Amino acid sequence: MSPTLDPTTLRTELYIDGAWRSATGGAIFPVENPATHEVLAHVADGGPEDAILAIEAAGRAQAEWGRSTPRQRAEILRRAYYLVLANTDRLASIMTAEMGKPLAEARGEVAYGAEMLLWFSEEAVRIGGDQTTSVDGSTRIMITQEPVGPCVLVTPWNFPLAMGTRKIGPAVAAGCTMVFKPAELTPLTSLALVEIFKEAGLPDGVLNVVTTSSPSTVVGRWMSSGIARKISFTGSTQVGKILLRQAADNVMRSSMELGGNAPFIVLADADVERAVDGAMKAKMRNMGEACTAANRFFVHRTLVDQFAEKLAKSMSELTVGNGAEAGTEVGPLIEQKGLDKVESLVADAVARGARVLTGGSRPEGPGYFYKPTVLTDVPLDAELMSTEIFGPVAAITAFDSEDEVIRLANDTDWGLVGYVFTESLDKALRFSKDLEVGMVGVNTGIVSNPAAPFGGIKQSGLGREGGKIGIEEYLEYKYTAVAG
Ligand code: NAD
Repeated sequence: MSPTLDPTTLRTELYIDGAWRSATGGAIFPVENPATHEVLAHVADGGPEDAILAIEAAGRAQAEWGRSTPRQRAEILRRAYYLVLANTDRLASIMTAEMGKPLAEARGEVAYGAEMLLWFSEEAVRIGGDQTTSVDGSTRIMITQEPVGPCVLVTPWNFPLAMGTRKIGPAVAAGCTMVFKPAELTPLTSLALVEIFKEAGLPDGVLNVVTTSSPSTVVGRWMSSGIARKISFTGSTQVGKILLRQAADNVMRSSMELGGNAPFIVLADADVERAVDGAMKAKMRNMGEACTAANRFFVHRTLVDQFAEKLAKSMSELTVGNGAEAGTEVGPLIEQKGLDKVESLVADAVARGARVLTGGSRPEGPGYFYKPTVLTDVPLDAELMSTEIFGPVAAITAFDSEDEVIRLANDTDWGLVGYVFTESLDKALRFSKDLEVGMVGVNTGIVSNPAAPFGGIKQSGLGREGGKIGIEEYLEYKYTAVAG
């Protein structure tokens, strides 16, 4: 039985300085279920005054929070971890209702998102430092790490829980206060998460949340406030560039997790069954609405027909439907705009000569659904080769040589992740080195893990989330010279 969502238990207000409150003037905006178009709730629509109240609260709380002990911060994160897990069904059902992903995937995201909190609870007590001597021996050099200060956190709709914990976890561990703006399409999961942090004992003012239908107004106020010292953003490259320009005005530390255009490469010696299994994960996780989603499939000409046929069979067997219903494997896309984009990218590829092996259209009925689709013979000039598809469409192109496929894979402004399937260690290592990306999956379609430094190069971003270095994004080095 899928857990049902009780609308009366949803949090819908702003959270500022430890208190839930309406937006100034009482403005609200609706949150829709993308499978049914039903309005799930109305959420507080924060404006400029609310943005200022939130950043001022974060600014006031910083000094005391910065002095909290690593153990205190670790224990809050650990309590939040257990509370998130204890609330798995509730959080998963909220996420499925507002975002569309099947419940099983939503539960998986809760587990992954919670792990981020546990990971950073363990990192909180391991913040390092160093000590050395000046080159002439006259001074001791003492190096300590301190919290950056109040952080602006902005997250996208595709992973409503995990994108929050990937930022809140390290910020809490490092001793930073926060203003947090979740995506307007999926604010309910984030508000439920914030409630958990309150229950876990996070002091008032440390985490402040403003939901809004006008992101540029609220985030713009934070960026120009002079109080915020850092921006951590996950979302499109286009918005990331706007925020980087704003960050320049106050010389703010910037972490950017932006878009991708992942190549998925199947070499001539690959195990085809394994490659198809990896392709299903790399393509279909989150209905293809993931920055790590395989966007361009390059398959060696000797394997391309076999791979395409098997992938089309697996894709055509998936059950599409409302994510809250048992047995659903593929939910709806997030909104009409996303559906229109997928339809137009497929139409463009077909007009340029691609063949549809399965799918290629939307099913009848309400909801922003699109059928799992496999296209083959996709020409290099098709628009989807240079655009994030963000939908359940696998686009396959044949290649002949390894040099050629490395050139094709790198022929993009993005560099988040690349996947390579081969039975040869030498070839795997060559592709790991030559692909211009921040992350490489060798014979696997999944790379995300709390223990791994997640992030991209080129226009896919700046900085890393997770792993041993994840906390560094929220810390500044200070060096003290001690004479004698
Ligand atoms: P988006 O850029 O439209 O929105 C992201 C967030 O920015 C939302 O909270 C939105 O309200 C806010 N925003 C929008 N305009 C803004 C503005 N002018 N000023 C301040 N904030 C603004 O992206 P999206 O559609 O929500 O998410 C999809 C994108 O996110 C894709 O490109 C995807 O690849 C990327 N993404 C990247 C990662 C990663 O880790 N690299 C992870 C998930 C998603």
